[in-house]
Amino acid sequence: MKVHEYQAKAILSAFGIPVPRSGVAATPEEARRIAQDMGGNVVVKAQIHAGGRGMAGGVKAVSSPQEAETVAKGLLGQRLITHQTGPEGAPVNRVLLEEPAQIAKEYYLAVIIDSGARCPVIMASEAGGMEIEEVAATAPEKILRANVDPIIGLQPFQCRNLAYGLNLPADLIRPAAALIANLYKVFEDKDCSLAEINPLAITSDGQLMALDAKLNFDDDALSRHPDIQELRDTGQEDPLEVEASEFGISYVKLDGDVGCMVNGAGLAMATMDSISMADAMPANFLDVGGGATEEQVAQAFKLLISDPQVKRILVNVFGGILRCDVAARGIVAASQETEAKVPIVVRMLGTNADEGKDILAKSGLGVILVNDLNEAALMIKQAASAS
Ligand code: GDP
Ligand code: MN
Repeated sequence: MKVHEYQAKAILSAFGIPVPRSGVAATPEEARRIAQDMGGNVVVKAQIHAGGRGMAGGVKAVSSPQEAETVAKGLLGQRLITHQTGPEGAPVNRVLLEEPAQIAKEYYLAVIIDSGARCPVIMASEAGGMEIEEVAATAPEKILRANVDPIIGLQPFQCRNLAYGLNLPADLIRPAAALIANLYKVFEDKDCSLAEINPLAITSDGQLMALDAKLNFDDDALSRHPDIQELRDTGQEDPLEVEASEFGISYVKLDGDVGCMVNGAGLAMATMDSISMADAMPANFLDVGGGATEEQVAQAFKLLISDPQVKRILVNVFGGILRCDVAARGIVAASQETEAKVPIVVRMLGTNADEGKDILAKSGLGVILVNDLNEAALMIKQAASAS
């Protein structure tokens, strides 16, 4: 789960990391009032679950409450398109107003999970402010890394090494080491999958300050953090993914046009591979799970077809705990309700497979039944040339 910059900064601040004085506004009038209270000079920042706002016009310095109101008016209620949002952009429903910092230098600091090294890793760079991906591609030697042993935790010497490696002024070595330790504490205590400060700035009066903040949380650990759950802003998420999460269906929107419905995450991955090998692209990942009911299958199927990008459907069910006849009834119910017009290819095996296939064959839906994944891939190819 992602949160907004203002929410992330409140958490960082609670862990002792310095952030600018600020206020959050949902209306232009509120923005004016906050700017007034802060003395007129503020930075107005669009709050969306994506970066790249600076270059997209989502971060603007203003010098009067009136100007803050005008800028807020231009951002609120609009969709901001950055290189991270895709062409549809993300809705701006709040702006953050911050006391402007005089930046002497910008650094990058983050904690992420390195799945290759199987541990959290601290990443730090003197080349902050800009996209870290670009630094990694053009000047990888400018990124310092420290792997953290999850059992013994981040060690003070690692923090000092990083601080020295960043070539900080001598008087900032201790504060920087403490800040790195605090960011790691946020990451660990809140079960983050990413904790990033970019830029971490040295201000002209020689202070370290987090000017931007990004925290992502591990969805599987959210049950331990009711306070974090409350920060969720579903308005920033894909509407189909939000709907799926309400039904307890594991669904991820992708770019292709083959909608897929599978029971089991591993089988879903294998199915997506088969689709790719048939020179097609999956429109989604969808795992209805082992113990799905007819209603859940129907919900999942409706969700799938409500994606306008879906031009053909591949269902791959291996009946175990989920019986094939239950899956078939769910598919038929959903199709009748939505009057789906796209070709549907179904492969069914396992418990009550014959009964399931029979239900589909007699449904009048024109379902194409296949026996294995190769055949399924072939049919998906043909469905493409037919449509
Ligand atoms: P992002 O583009 O979405 O990552 O948004 P950031 O919060 O990182 O803002 C983009 C850039 O705006 C930063 O890299 C800074 O250079 C600049 N910026 C942000 N806040 C301030 C501020 O308080 N004062 C000044 N002078 N620049 C700022
Ligand atoms: Mn940033």
